[in-house]
Amino acid sequence: MSTALQFDTHEIFNQSPPYEDIDLFSTDGPLVEAVKANGAEAEIAALSAFGRQWGAAEMFGLGRRANENPPKLYTFNPKGFRRDVVEFHPAYHELMRASIAAGLHASTFTPTGKRAAPPAEVARAARYYMAAQVESGHLCPITMTRAALAALAAEPTLLATVAPKVVTTTYDPAFRPWTEKPGMTLGMGMTEKQGGTDVRANTTTATPSGDFYVVTGHKWFLSAPMCDAFLVLAQAPGGLTCLFVPRFRPDGSVNALRLQRLKDKLGNRSNASSEVEFAGAFALRVGPEGAGVRTIIQMVQLTRLDCALASSGFMRMALAQAVHHSRYRTVFQKHLYDQPMMRTVLADLALEVEGAVALVMRLARAFDYAGEDAREAAYARLVTPAAKYWICKTAPGFIYEAMECLGGNGYVEESILPRLYREAPVNAIWEGSGNVMCLDVLRALRRDEEAAELFGSLARQASRLAGAVEAPFDRDKAIASEAHARDMVGRLARIAAAAALNDSAPAAVTEAFVHTRLGRPGGALYGADGLEATEAELLLERALPER
Ligand SMILES: Cc1cc2nc3c(=O)[nH]c(=O)nc-3n(C[C@H](O)[C@H](O)[C@H](O)COP(=O)(O)OP(=O)(O)OC[C@H]3O[C@@H](n4cnc5c(N)ncnc54)[C@H](O)[C@@H]3O)c2cc1C
Repeated sequence: MSTALQFDTHEIFNQSPPYEDIDLFSTDGPLVEAVKANGAEAEIAALSAFGRQWGAAEMFGLGRRANENPPKLYTFNPKGFRRDVVEFHPAYHELMRASIAAGLHASTFTPTGKRAAPPAEVARAARYYMAAQVESGHLCPITMTRAALAALAAEPTLLATVAPKVVTTTYDPAFRPWTEKPGMTLGMGMTEKQGGTDVRANTTTATPSGDFYVVTGHKWFLSAPMCDAFLVLAQAPGGLTCLFVPRFRPDGSVNALRLQRLKDKLGNRSNASSEVEFAGAFALRVGPEGAGVRTIIQMVQLTRLDCALASSGFMRMALAQAVHHSRYRTVFQKHLYDQPMMRTVLADLALEVEGAVALVMRLARAFDYAGEDAREAAYARLVTPAAKYWICKTAPGFIYEAMECLGGNGYVEESILPRLYREAPVNAIWEGSGNVMCLDVLRALRRDEEAAELFGSLARQASRLAGAVEAPFDRDKAIASEAHARDMVGRLARIAAAAALNDSAPAAVTEAFVHTRLGRPGGALYGADGLEATEAELLLERALPER
């Protein structure tokens, strides 16, 4: 691109070209290595095709338009009849179509609802990570749809009819019964006004009526309300129970879901999040009465993985934008990229993403093998909440720092940075907020022997990697103090990231991560970690090849 374009009053120069029409996969060295290290090498060509598709200027345009034109709720039709439908901008539908065509909503399951063979999780994780870099709001129904299949496993007959409708590559946004559609999406309703974390405080009821249930009550958050059905928690006679609540009754009439209003959110604007009342809605039970939490936690475990994947993707996009811009922008006759302090900041950001992507891809591998290998199941159980905690809480501050690398251009809406910045906190809040993730790690350590053993072995591995850094914890000390669980869980995540890097990245990267992330007290700002110039050189070359 020309850097000296004529304008009426001045020439334009010293601005970076748009960061688009790139291959989001092949230009991301750490991602390529992590995919290979976790068993998905055979997917490289397909992932590169996906990376080119999603890195196209057109896809970035769809992402922008879907967020500039948020969804609208139409509660009634012009004659006063209830409609309870949400209309989305065509750009949102295009994004949904592309994600579903690529199987982001279901590729880890077979049409019979069984888990697909490895490396289905790692291959999907890489795609999800790339899609999140471009637009994340539409990924809400995408993550819920695939995760719901895990909970539906508790009700094999229902799963057998739902799974073939989910495991297609057809997106059908029409408002009609799921049984008549070639493809369907699924949402989730747990949170009520009086409690989200504490779902046992749910007051919504599920009353048995023959072979179905009647659900009465509300949900304070019900995202993607145009999904074809929802997994909802409600109090049945036997206790808190998971229910399948479709938008239409079996007789074809609209089910009694009354969308009250849409939330006015900080970010996540392309996605609709509704408040809903169930006015005697038709529902089918999923799993035994009283087993609601146990049933739906299968779903939540998968959405938590996706939160960590998406936030890693946000950080990757923010980093790529910062590195790209700095290579073009000159300040004091020198590219920002060559200014010593900027290089340290950029390299430190790159190192954070190295750790995050290595960790989430390793975690995806654990999901690939959890069904057959107890150790991998323990890894998924222990590391999912830890990774969600560390990565999702890191992302907002990280994106802010990357934004600053672009100066004023980064703060302006036309760059993608403000959208990423607004989007990031929600991944830390939903699907279990930060403290709740830490409590979940404590629970795993207390109850799951395999998880506790894994914890010990990660700690020993960290000591070996870190050399002089002392073993950071032992299990008894770790579970003793709820008050200090954040410190322990943050360290656990960074240790697991170091171990994952050890499997996928060059030794120098792992060493840099260990000496800056395991040896230091938390809280240092990016670029204040004492990275050496040679380390910066390596990290920046890996982060983004020069064009
Ligand atoms: C945009 C958006 C969309 C959403 N979509 C959905 C949806 O589709 N379906 C759905 O069911 N929910 C949805 N949610 C709700 C979300 O899952 C909840 O907001 C979240 O789980 C937290 O619950 P809460 O808001 O009731 O907060 P609370 O449960 O009141 O928690 C508040 C804070 O207290 C902390 N905390 C809780 N317990 C403890 C403890 N014992 N010790 C220390 N700290 C603690 C939490 O970590 C949190 O930071 C959505 C939320 C948002 C923001």
